[in-house]
Amino acid sequence: MELIFATANPDKLREASEILGKGITLIMPKKLGYKGDIPETGATIEANSKMKCQFIWNKFNKSCFADDTALEVASLGGAPGVYSARYAGEQHDSKANIAKLLAELEKVDKRKKNIRAARFRTVITLIHKGTLYTFNGVMNGTIAEKESGEGGFGYDSVFIPEGCSCTFAEMSENQKNAISHRGIAMRKLAHFLSQL
Ligand code: IMP
Repeated sequence: MELIFATANPDKLREASEILGKGITLIMPKKLGYKGDIPETGATIEANSKMKCQFIWNKFNKSCFADDTALEVASLGGAPGVYSARYAGEQHDSKANIAKLLAELEKVDKRKKNIRAARFRTVITLIHKGTLYTFNGVMNGTIAEKESGEGGFGYDSVFIPEGCSCTFAEMSENQKNAISHRGIAMRKLAHFLSQL
């Protein structure tokens, strides 16, 4: 089965291909000649995931899926949330995003409980034969006081998953994928596709 993945990120494509297995051939919009942006201007990750998927479906009329992920910190009112990629500005700079996150956490009233509690949430939208399906993945954890580890991307170097003593950035890619928010959502998608 062929499926379009609404992303321009080859790392995401590789990870998704591994989880979905040999029966599913993933195609990036770029390979079908679309090199423009895929709109993600929604107010929530649910809206963005749906918007990206709908956009590709309307363009190619072919089974497709999109994902959107947020880091949510309850003591910061759910921030960075849907703005995770551009928390410190439109330059999408991970180092600057992390610096802002750590600085904002320092400002939180110390009397509050679980100040550093956080979660990653991924929403995948699939459109197959015109019908829309949604798959969710959540990983709870805490935000470390400082960065550790060289692997991963985004906020990985400050996110310690629940039950672990190291950050996502200190794990191998396989270890991370086995427990991560995106891994969970992707495996739900894989299970659904295997039943078609
Ligand atoms: P996206 O929706 O997958 O593009 O994710 C939005 C932003 O969330 C990214 O730019 C990263 O900053 C952050 N992010 C998403 N997934 C992860 C992850 O697995 N680890 C760390 N940061 C992530």
